[in-house]
Amino acid sequence: MNLKNPSLFRQQCYINGQWLDADSGQTINVTNPATNDVIGTVPKMGTDETRRAIEAAEKAQIQWRKKTAKERSVILRRWYDLVMKNQEDLALLLTLEQGKPLAEAKGEIAYGASYLEWFAEEAKRVYGDVLPGHMGDKRVVVLKQPIGVTAAITPWNFPNAMITRKAGAALAVGCTMVLKPATATPYSAFALAVLAEEAGIPAGVLNIITGAAKAIGDELCENPIVRKLTFTGSTEIGAELMRNCAATVKKTSMELGGNAPFIVFDDADLDAAVEGAMVSKYRNAGQTCVCANRLYVQKGVYDAFVEKLKVAVGKLKIGNGTEAGVTIGPMIDAKAVAKIQEHIEDAVSKGATIAAGGKALGGNFFEPTILANVPANAVVSKEETFGPLAPVFCFETDEEVVRLANDTEFGLASYLYANDMSRIIKVSEELEYGMVGINTGLISNEMAPFGGVKASGLGREGSKYGIEDYLEIKYLCLSIK
Ligand code: ADP
Repeated sequence: MNLKNPSLFRQQCYINGQWLDADSGQTINVTNPATNDVIGTVPKMGTDETRRAIEAAEKAQIQWRKKTAKERSVILRRWYDLVMKNQEDLALLLTLEQGKPLAEAKGEIAYGASYLEWFAEEAKRVYGDVLPGHMGDKRVVVLKQPIGVTAAITPWNFPNAMITRKAGAALAVGCTMVLKPATATPYSAFALAVLAEEAGIPAGVLNIITGAAKAIGDELCENPIVRKLTFTGSTEIGAELMRNCAATVKKTSMELGGNAPFIVFDDADLDAAVEGAMVSKYRNAGQTCVCANRLYVQKGVYDAFVEKLKVAVGKLKIGNGTEAGVTIGPMIDAKAVAKIQEHIEDAVSKGATIAAGGKALGGNFFEPTILANVPANAVVSKEETFGPLAPVFCFETDEEVVRLANDTEFGLASYLYANDMSRIIKVSEELEYGMVGINTGLISNEMAPFGGVKASGLGREGSKYGIEDYLEIKYLCLSIK
């Protein structure tokens, strides 16, 4: 591994400011999904180490919350600067463990860092309130205080940004955190901790542990010291974590699965729609929770859209993300490849046709694929594929497509391309989703509230709303003479 700053590559966990192995000495291998080579190992920690990390976070919070908002802001801003200064190294580490093309990894580092910058700024704007008293001698004052020790569990598809948008908000307001990154992508997390320490984040404020997901997760949910759990991952695991958090009545934020519809109306700019579909569908090889999962194209422009999409898909270059010009890297593992294959076989058996790609290429690579004439009962209309598969469905009326788009348990991102303003407003209001991209396929940024409805989750990340998830409201009732 060719890092300019080799100290960013750590293979130990970070607890209370110390780099540690598991008590048992056991480790887990971490592999490069492009080659299946072992990159290194991480400690296999469990319940005891998790408990110690939580206790360290509890102690550290006493001082951290007492710092002024400006002091915390300055430290977070320094963290942001260090992440950007080390952007190339962080991107390389990310590509090696996750697989996305290096240019995309650089983009993720900048995107991830933007949350640190944003929350460094927002730290100073946690305003309380003074309300009219209910009696002549009473005054009501509302304080917003950090919720306390928080826990975060993050996924492998954005190994950097899913951490910064949680930790940035938590640390900004005076919370501390115990984080469990995905076992597949721990090195991006450790590298962030190296830079956090360099930025001046005190020992115990941010702790990172890897190991047995269930043992660590159970302790994070059940330990009463932890007051909030924030999770990004599948709906199935998210629901389990919520159940486990119930006994200690923890606040939870859940960013779960999606099944994004991408709707192209007959008055849309087709070239723009194709461009939007390409970024929405094929970014990170289709492994993002806001990826277009179902493309709905109106009958009059259906054939033209599929033809244009075929041309654009033909220009993608598959390969190891570290190679120049590659735009589609590997899937995260063999299971992900098998799921794409299953979705294709199911749709084809029900009458869909393969308009492009369709094949596994060996290793964890899969051809970017387009399925045309996909019937409504295909599994892919219900389940998230999480791969470079674009199933294109045909629809006729606005009412029909709204019904189809909403016919899912999920409600994270949705997209529509149209020009008629009334149509845009009406359809946007009808879509049961937390986010609607209108004539754009790229909607995530630190200034906007990211999150879903229905089985896609609870809470928002980023924006002025994202900070609220880490705050408690306390009201002071003042009696005056
Ligand atoms: P995906 O792997 O599709 O992103 P998962 O929900 O399986 O979604 O994983 C997201 C995160 O949740 C990862 O960090 C994973 O290790 C963690 N995880 C998986 N199972 C559990 C569990 N039972 N308890 C706590 N965390 C878990």
